[in-house]
Amino acid sequence: MQTFADLFGTAPALAAEAPGRVNLIGEHTDYNGGFVLPTVIPQRTRVELVPRPDANVRVWSANVDEAHRMEQFLLGREAVTHTWLDYVQGVTVALRQRGLHLRGVDMRIESTVPIGSGLSSSAALEVSVARALRAAFDLRLDDVELAMAGKWAENEFVGAPTGIMDQMVVSLGAAGAALFLDTRSLHFDRVPLPPTVELVVIDSGIRHRLVTGEYATRRSQCEEASRRLRVHELRDVPVANLPQVEALDEPFRRRARHVVTEDDRVLQAVAALRANDPAQVGELFYASHASMRDDYEVSVPQVDALVEIASSEHDVYGARLTGGGFGGSIVVLAKRGSGRAVADRVAERYRTECGETPTVLLPA
Ligand code: ADP
Ligand code: MG
Repeated sequence: MQTFADLFGTAPALAAEAPGRVNLIGEHTDYNGGFVLPTVIPQRTRVELVPRPDANVRVWSANVDEAHRMEQFLLGREAVTHTWLDYVQGVTVALRQRGLHLRGVDMRIESTVPIGSGLSSSAALEVSVARALRAAFDLRLDDVELAMAGKWAENEFVGAPTGIMDQMVVSLGAAGAALFLDTRSLHFDRVPLPPTVELVVIDSGIRHRLVTGEYATRRSQCEEASRRLRVHELRDVPVANLPQVEALDEPFRRRARHVVTEDDRVLQAVAALRANDPAQVGELFYASHASMRDDYEVSVPQVDALVEIASSEHDVYGARLTGGGFGGSIVVLAKRGSGRAVADRVAERYRTECGETPTVLLPA
C-alpha cells in the first residue's frame, strides 16, 4: 500500500483518527427527539496530512477502487460529484460556513472500518478529516461543533438524511464506555461498560432495497402519531402515558409504542450499566429486538434467526438488531473473553441453518 511519502513526496505533518460505532440500544428514536446509546469500536479511520501553500486539496483513500483513489478539488469551488469525495468536500464547506479559515492540504486516508456495513465509516471519515483540519489550522471548533459539521456534510452535501448520533459518538465517544445521548438537547454522558462484558457484531448479509422508502414511511407515521397525541415529538410521550398510545389506530399505535418504550429502554439500560447488571442490559436488548420486529416492523426473518441463535449461547446476555433494519447486523452482549468463540459459533450456525453469508464485524 502506498505511503504518504510515495503519494506526495514528503512525510505527513500530522495525523488524526476517528473510530467506527455500533448502537447498543435506542433505535429509530433519534428522529423522534429521543435517546440513543451507541459506543465506539476499535476499527478506525486515519488521516495523514500536509498543509499546502495554495487552496488545492489533494486527497487519496486506500479504501476505494484503484481508479478513484486520488481526487482533488479547490477550496471554495467544492461541487457535488456523487463519489466518496463529497464526504471530504462536505466537511471543508461546513467548516468554512462556520467562518473558519482553511488552506489547501494533501491528505492520505486509510480505514479499518468496514464500508457500508452499518458501523458508520461515513462519520469516521467526516470526523477524522475534520480533526485533521482542526489540528492543521488551529481551528476553534469543539467536539460537538465538529460533530455538527460532519452531520452537515452528510445531510446537505452528500444528501443522506441521517441523524446526529453517528457523528456525536464518533467525535465524543471513548473506548470502554457508551455515549448516552439526548438527540434533542445534545446533552450527553459517558457510561462505562462493565468490565465483565464484550460486544459481538455480526452482519446478516441481508440488505433490502426500498429501505429509504420504508424509513420515510416510518418517519411520517411517527409524525402523524405525534399530531394525534398532541405532542411536538414522540419523545414528549412519557412511558406512563402508554394508555394514550394504546388508544391510537394502527399502525400508529404500534409505531408509537416502539418509540416510547424504546426511549424508556435506553434509560433503563443506562441505569443497568451503572448498576453493573449485564443480565438486565441483555434483557433490554431482547425486548428492543422484539419491539423492532413486532411493533416497528423493521426486522427480517434472517435477522430474527440470528438473534435467536445468539440467545441460545451460554455466554450471551442479550442480542438485537442494530441500525435501521431491513437486514443489517445484530449486536450481542457477551461475557468478556467469550466474544470470539460466540461470534464464530453463531455465524456458523446461521450459515448452515439459514443458508446466508454472515460476516463477523466484532471482535475485529
Ligand atoms: P456506513 O457509514 O454504514 O459505512 P455509508 O453508506 O453511510 O455506510 O457510508 C459509506 C460511504 O462513505 C462510502 O461509500 C464512501 O463514499 C464513504 N467512505 C467511508 N469511508 C471511506 C474511506 N475510508 N475512504 C473513502 N470513502 C469512504
Ligand atoms: Mg454512514
